[in-house]
Amino acid sequence: MNSIKLTGSCLCGSVKYSVTTEIKKFYFCHCEQCRKITGSSFASNILAKPSTVTWVSGLEKIKRFDYPGEKSYTKVFCSECGSGLPFLNESGNTLFIPAGSLDGDYDLKPDHNIYWADKASWYEAGISAEKCPEFPA
Ligand SMILES: [Zn+2]
Ligand SMILES: [Zn+2]
Repeated sequence: MNSIKLTGSCLCGSVKYSVTTEIKKFYFCHCEQCRKITGSSFASNILAKPSTVTWVSGLEKIKRFDYPGEKSYTKVFCSECGSGLPFLNESGNTLFIPAGSLDGDYDLKPDHNIYWADKASWYEAGISAEKCPEFPA
């Protein structure tokens, strides 16, 4: 796979990054930890070759949380707005990039829904619910 340059930022705009890497996988993860930490039904994570993330701005706002449980789990986020940001996992073999943090339009397609059995009981009803451009009238 070829290298791709990705750029991203947090919601409040404090943290901006760029990284050139090779994408290995793109997963929607429905596990309990991902649901808790995103406050949503799943996390959208791009798994890439370990590569140096260039923090264009906001380095001082970045916080890292390593889940103390048995299953290795990490979140790196902006301490101002809480947005997820790229991080190297604990074993150092994978760079995780939260897909929602990317700016710009990349030709990326999720490969798998992982931890499918753990998905929220309301997930499938949610994706088939009526689609509205904004709040429903
Ligand atoms: Zn922020
Ligand atoms: Zn997960």
